[in-house]
Amino acid sequence: MTFRDLNIIDPILKSIAIAGYKEPTPIQVEAIPVLLSKKDILGSAQTGTGKTAAFAIPILQNLFLEQKETLRRTTKALILTPTRELASQIYENFTLYAKFVNQRSAVIYGGVSQKKQEEALAKGVDVLIATPGRLLDLMYQGIIKLNEVSYLVLDEADRMLDMGFIKDVNKIIEFIPTQRQTMLFSATMPKEIEMLSKTILKDPIRVSIVPVNQTIDVIEQSIYHVNKTKKTQLLLDLISEYKMKSVLVFMRTKHTANRLVTELTKANVSAEPIHGNKSQSARERALLNFKKGRTTVLVATDIAARGIDIEALSFVVNYDLPETGETYIHRMGRTGRAGLDGKAISLCDPKERSLLNDIEKHIKMEIPVVAHPYAIVLDNTPKSESTKKSSKPQTSNKQFNSLKPDYSIKPRKTPSTKKPYINEDKTEKNEMNSLKNLAPKSKFAPAKAVAAYKSAQQPKRNQNNKNRRAVK
Ligand code: AMP
Repeated sequence: MTFRDLNIIDPILKSIAIAGYKEPTPIQVEAIPVLLSKKDILGSAQTGTGKTAAFAIPILQNLFLEQKETLRRTTKALILTPTRELASQIYENFTLYAKFVNQRSAVIYGGVSQKKQEEALAKGVDVLIATPGRLLDLMYQGIIKLNEVSYLVLDEADRMLDMGFIKDVNKIIEFIPTQRQTMLFSATMPKEIEMLSKTILKDPIRVSIVPVNQTIDVIEQSIYHVNKTKKTQLLLDLISEYKMKSVLVFMRTKHTANRLVTELTKANVSAEPIHGNKSQSARERALLNFKKGRTTVLVATDIAARGIDIEALSFVVNYDLPETGETYIHRMGRTGRAGLDGKAISLCDPKERSLLNDIEKHIKMEIPVVAHPYAIVLDNTPKSESTKKSSKPQTSNKQFNSLKPDYSIKPRKTPSTKKPYINEDKTEKNEMNSLKNLAPKSKFAPAKAVAAYKSAQQPKRNQNNKNRRAVK
């Protein structure tokens, strides 16, 4: 299948050749004919599947074929998307594909002065890419009119819902003529999005590429059970072990993201944060530095990282486990793109085990566990019970000593029952056995690290034997 087989016109084929796309991706094969025939679409597709081109190319082709000799350009296509980064990327794609079809695009989003955006709009645009809040502001100021919009795209609708934009989206839609083609894309289909789709789409064709709620097959997933206090050191070890050139690290909060950047920088690993507290220009700079390979680690919160499109990203690390299985899938979707392998590594503190449970339930698989020098050892105590009991911190405040296991963990009595679970109060022997059990399960175990761990145990075990002999 080629783009020509999909009836794409020559001037757009020229742009596609410049973009270097050899053949359409599965979502493009499915969606382009539907959209060229002006039908509504409900698309379940994750970022990274080529979904932007799947809607941008047919919109531009239809606009080009319908274009009239008018004095002024008017907004005929509106793309609503949740984040500034995503908006900028969609804008870049539209600009690229529209090179030879005389369609002008503009992008507007909040957090920056509106002056430049006003200037771009004043020149007249055919395609407007916007985040909902800034668009409403400009509409209320009379700067933007949507009364000639005949193509509407809601991109990452589930994320707009998560971010509380759905009310704004509904308000915006009230200003758009009902005579239009509507495209709704969402990686997941929560109830609210199903409802929205019923009210704004007319007899939509459903297109689903990566089945909703399923992880991406090409991505290798792994779990490192580790205490929170050891996560940074483990991350540093993994960066060096895997010789990571670029890794996207997810954190729960802006504050901890900043702190991790400081710690990584101190350890001579170049890192920058990307989160909502950063100015737009700082975020764009951080993203550009990362894309150009000038920084090794981009430390992101979920909202800021949404839809970030970085080619050839091989590693995603969940420093903090995400709150939902769906977010886990989204985070993983940053890697393993364009047919490349990707690794999604999750660092799981004992307090995060219930999150891990939920994620595994959601993706319907157990994520392979990796043996490593700071491993917390598996036991048979149910997660909920032990999490409740572990009110005291399980580790000492001792400084991290690379590749040295932490034996300052205090024994803790917990009854053994059915489910596999990790418990920190194992004897050294059990700990080694557990590691042996864990190691073969995963091909990701950093072999050197495990070897170093074992050799670090040697003197201790020899000492124990000597003691035993002395007692005899
Ligand atoms: P998206 O899912 O829209 O975020 O696209 C992910 C990446 O795939 C972007 O970098 C696109 O430039 C790229 N892409 C889109 N369509 C194709 C294609 N047919 N062949 C190769 N790469 C593509």
